[in-house]
Amino acid sequence: MPFKALHLSDNVLRGVQAAGYTDPTPIQLRAIPVVLGGGDLIGSAQTGTGKTAAFALPILTRLGQHGRVRVLVLEPTRELAAQVETAFRDFARFTDLRTVAIFGGVGYGLQRQELKRGVDVLVATPGRLVDYLKTGEINLRDITILVLDEVDRMLDMGFLPVVKDIIARCPRERQTLFFSATVPPEIQAVASFALRNPTRVEVGINRSVNESVKHALYPVAADQKFDLLEALLAKTDFDSVLVFSRTKHGADKIARRLKAANHSVAVLHANRSQNQRIEALAGFKSGKYEVMVATDIAARGIDVAGVSHVINYDVPEKPEDYVHRIGRTGRAQAVGDAFTLVTPENAGDIRDIQRFIGAKIPELRLEGFPYRAFVARTVEPAHQRGHGSLPGQIRHKGSFNRYRGRR
Ligand code: AMP
Repeated sequence: MPFKALHLSDNVLRGVQAAGYTDPTPIQLRAIPVVLGGGDLIGSAQTGTGKTAAFALPILTRLGQHGRVRVLVLEPTRELAAQVETAFRDFARFTDLRTVAIFGGVGYGLQRQELKRGVDVLVATPGRLVDYLKTGEINLRDITILVLDEVDRMLDMGFLPVVKDIIARCPRERQTLFFSATVPPEIQAVASFALRNPTRVEVGINRSVNESVKHALYPVAADQKFDLLEALLAKTDFDSVLVFSRTKHGADKIARRLKAANHSVAVLHANRSQNQRIEALAGFKSGKYEVMVATDIAARGIDVAGVSHVINYDVPEKPEDYVHRIGRTGRAQAVGDAFTLVTPENAGDIRDIQRFIGAKIPELRLEGFPYRAFVARTVEPAHQRGHGSLPGQIRHKGSFNRYRGRR
């Protein structure tokens, strides 16, 4: 079914065409009619499924013409707020509707100017929005559509009380759209509080690892992790590497040590200023930095194309984050490699991840690395393995895999 058949307004359809979309994605097909019909919705879908357009297109159609602040979209991070606001702006380019992004880490001046000009759609992170609610510069009296996006992330970040306060400030008579990759009981509780008779739309939670990504576990003792990371970087022919750390502090520490080892490194996590984050991302995209060290929250939803390698310095806390992290590489059919450093304490996490993706991740060891005893005993050297059991050949310079040239 083409977009035309979905009853979007002509101006919004022109915006869709200009964005270059031809066919709706599954979540768009299923969510757009519900949103156009005015109903509440719980969508289980992750970033990358076309979720933003699934709510933005019908919302813009429902709004029609410029008026008051009628739509509030809550996002967990500044990057997502900026990204989603840009999408709204693009789709609305043939309408007179106005959008603004409200997030912390930048000055208030520009945001205030835009607010004064009058907006229809506010895309905000909870913290900064509350600042404006306190000063009375924004009120939510006229909200008719409330979107809670990436709710699981929002709750992980401790935003529950603020989010509840914001919801309570919106009129009771409203349409509420709720998106969360997973809907466990605590999230269901928020949904019950915020939504009325919602329609559930679930699009296949992405459990599968892109076939063009070759992934492997690298068992190592905890106190040898950094050394192994360095050795992997030295032995791998990479264009750009995204290194994931569980904590902000850990990310800073890894970055410091990599810099000391003469790598050009960017860092992305929630404690960095907006300008620092923009610079880090732009520098990583342009090739100024060959390595970016990031936490999950900062990296979520960010579209960095062409990452040749992902290295999980720390095993992700949630199995779905594994898929999410390694989905940063191998995008758009490009080939990518993903390495995960695992210590004996991570055995349970790895079991959960393998269960989640429904596959075993091959274990490898880096030839020539001075492993402590336990690793040498538990893992076969990669070159002795039948490659039939690997999803693909992991390329390292020299050693066990013959280097097949730069991409
Ligand atoms: P999202 O899940 O909203 O973050 O979207 C993921 C990516 O898919 C974005 O780069 C969108 O621009 C793109 N996208 C969304 N819907 C479509 C569509 N119907 N056709 C082609 N690309 C799309």
